[in-house]
Amino acid sequence: MDLTRHLHTFGYYLKRRFGEPVHKLSLSGDFTCPNRDGTLGRGGCTFCNVRSFGRDAAELTISQQLEREKAKTDRAGKYLAYFQAYTSTYAEVEVLKALYDEAAGAADVVGLCVGTRPDCVPDAALDLLAGYRDAGREVWLELGLQTANDATQALIRRGHTLADYRDAAERARARGLKVCAHLIVGLPGEGWEQAHQTLATVLDIGVAGLKLHPLMIVRGSRMAAQYRRGEVQPQSLDDYADLAASLIRHTPADVVFHRVSATAQAPTLIAPDWCGPRWTALQAIGARLARAGGQGSALGQAWPPAD
Ligand code: SF4
Repeated sequence: MDLTRHLHTFGYYLKRRFGEPVHKLSLSGDFTCPNRDGTLGRGGCTFCNVRSFGRDAAELTISQQLEREKAKTDRAGKYLAYFQAYTSTYAEVEVLKALYDEAAGAADVVGLCVGTRPDCVPDAALDLLAGYRDAGREVWLELGLQTANDATQALIRRGHTLADYRDAAERARARGLKVCAHLIVGLPGEGWEQAHQTLATVLDIGVAGLKLHPLMIVRGSRMAAQYRRGEVQPQSLDDYADLAASLIRHTPADVVFHRVSATAQAPTLIAPDWCGPRWTALQAIGARLARAGGQGSALGQAWPPAD
């Protein structure tokens, strides 16, 4: 399934900019997060299992991690250093600079992607990132919003609000930084209405990229216990694909989709089982886009669309 026929994928965007494939290499800067270190809480967001970030990587230097990840990809080309684990702006700016410098200076690394919480991006961190962008690097700030609904934010114990996201996104955009919003589709109590409201909100604030993620129940999360008690239920493949395709169709064509689904493997993944195989959700979403129209084809239309 060639999704680039139906949506503006990150791979396509990068290939156009750099003229060759660019791969993301996941790194850990040995950060923690305020929802785990006691600043906001200790148990974390209810869906999160930080062990899936691979904390062992933090024992390696950034250069060592890059070499290890390059060897794993087995794909030639250029690379983006992706600070993925925990909250990757959650340190003094001098610490951040040392980590980002090491990554940005590595061979064949053309830029940085930095994943973080919207309440953990002080101006000094944004200025630092803007410096790499000014030096010609590709730079993305990946902000975990998950939902624009503050009631759901509280339910999943995010510890921040939509206002935090708006503030961080606006300060980043004022510096010309590209913002990618992470959204989880199918959070408890959320359906089409909330998902479309979240999309409309992030588009209204202004966003260069989106990551759509199905709700996954992973081992070690608080939600795993809620799932066992029957209190939460992940979406079916059809429900997720229908809604994800609708969100894509309601997104302008210039917004880059970094991801439209996600995978995990047992024993980390508890449910849904369709999140195991890499292509299952992508093929389901692609089939819907092929049938109903691709990215942006439903702009201005009400939802649910009549497809
Ligand atoms: S999802 Fe991010 S902010 Fe939430 S507990 Fe996990 S690492 Fe912390």
